[in-house]
Amino acid sequence: MRHFPIFLDLTQSRVVVAGGGEAALAKLRLLFKTQAAITVFAADPAADIARWAAAGRLRLEHRAIRAEDIAGAVLAYAATGEVDEDARVAGLARAQGVLVNVVDDLVASQFITPAIVDRTPITIAIGTEGAAPVLARTLKGELEKRLESGVSALAEAGRAFRDRARALPGVRARCAFWAAWYGTDGPAALARGTPLDAALEALLARHLAHQPEPGRVDFVGAGPGDPDLLTLKARKALDGADVVLHDRLVAPGILDLARREATMIEAGKEGFGPSTPQDAINRLMIEHARAGARVVRLKAGDPAVFGRLDEEIEAVRDAGLDHAVIPGITAASAAAASIGRSLTRRGRNSGYQVLTGHDVKGFAEHDWRALARSGSVAAIYMGKRATRFLTGRLMMHGADPETPVTVVANASRPDARTLATSLARLPDVLETAGLTGPAVILYGLAPAAAEAALPAFPMLDTPEEIAL
Ligand code: SAH
Repeated sequence: MRHFPIFLDLTQSRVVVAGGGEAALAKLRLLFKTQAAITVFAADPAADIARWAAAGRLRLEHRAIRAEDIAGAVLAYAATGEVDEDARVAGLARAQGVLVNVVDDLVASQFITPAIVDRTPITIAIGTEGAAPVLARTLKGELEKRLESGVSALAEAGRAFRDRARALPGVRARCAFWAAWYGTDGPAALARGTPLDAALEALLARHLAHQPEPGRVDFVGAGPGDPDLLTLKARKALDGADVVLHDRLVAPGILDLARREATMIEAGKEGFGPSTPQDAINRLMIEHARAGARVVRLKAGDPAVFGRLDEEIEAVRDAGLDHAVIPGITAASAAAASIGRSLTRRGRNSGYQVLTGHDVKGFAEHDWRALARSGSVAAIYMGKRATRFLTGRLMMHGADPETPVTVVANASRPDARTLATSLARLPDVLETAGLTGPAVILYGLAPAAAEAALPAFPMLDTPEEIAL
């Protein structure tokens, strides 16, 4: 982020504008939305500016700006329309530590003006760091439509009621009250034409009579990484969470969706890396929920797949707490989708196995034989380090060395990688590829694209990488 967005209180602050043409007019129209004390420096100002000066809306000096004019200003605009003069103004401002905007010159500007959606007191600033001003305007248009004009009235009424709302016990009760105001009761009052202060009093009375909800734990599937692959229920749970206890594997883009006030705790396990003991995780969930928090236990993929879900549910149930499981898209589904393949297929495999590379050492003879059979499909999680063992056992039990195998790392994420190979070559291919991040091994499946490109298996000698 190059430009840090802040909301600046310009009440009674000095803002100087150098220039009196079109560029200055555009900035002045925006500045008039504030209570800034504006001075314009222009030898030959536009008629509008002279009129505004006569009406007392700004001060006008019919000359070029000087260093002493800038002292004590909060913001300066170089809007003369002349490159050299703008550069001089910018230099004066910078020399005095006054933030300067040079119209149409991103590089010379210390601050830029965002696209603004004005529903005062609600204001939304949209910036693109100069990269896509048209996109900013499109977004502004969409937000203007989305925020009906009544939102200003709701927020103004809300502001006047903030002290009264402190009668509610605790942050959560207050959050619930305001969520009801802006989500349902406020818009309903507007629609009916009920006076907003009366509607707020009625809502407060209802909430004061209401018992606080007890804490709870929701086990939520975060999916494989792409935030668009979250379920709507997962989004809602994250929106309402007080505490989010997440695995290390959960993608940052998904954590960003949690309520801003939520306490984020990484309680992770990742492959062979350092991990938080299960007891500690259970204790954290229970402690927070008992204190009244809505805890989201956020797990990568689907919580019911290699997520020690049963142990955690049991702990929460034994503690007498409410809970629910919100499923997610598991890594195998995302990996299969990324290679354009079905995990099952009529006539090939009527089922597929979901395995972890951690546990295969305990496999019985018949498990290996079943897996080795032609047409078998398995999704192997946490298998990167177990491939030599896996390959050896499968081939010993009669698996065709040319059985297709596809490894998908970081499925659904921007850094996804796909390696298509054969069973015999899998260990070497993985070793040379140096994959980073979680990977799922799809045994018995080749990417649709690779198969189309090649007449038949065996696959390539070197790993075929398919750009996703
Ligand atoms: N509950 C998760 C699995 C947790 S076990 C799920 O349903 O997906 C962790 C393993 O999941 C990783 O070692 C890896 O094998 C797999 N995995 C998780 N996310 C993945 C991703 N985005 N791409 C590939 N594999 C992934």
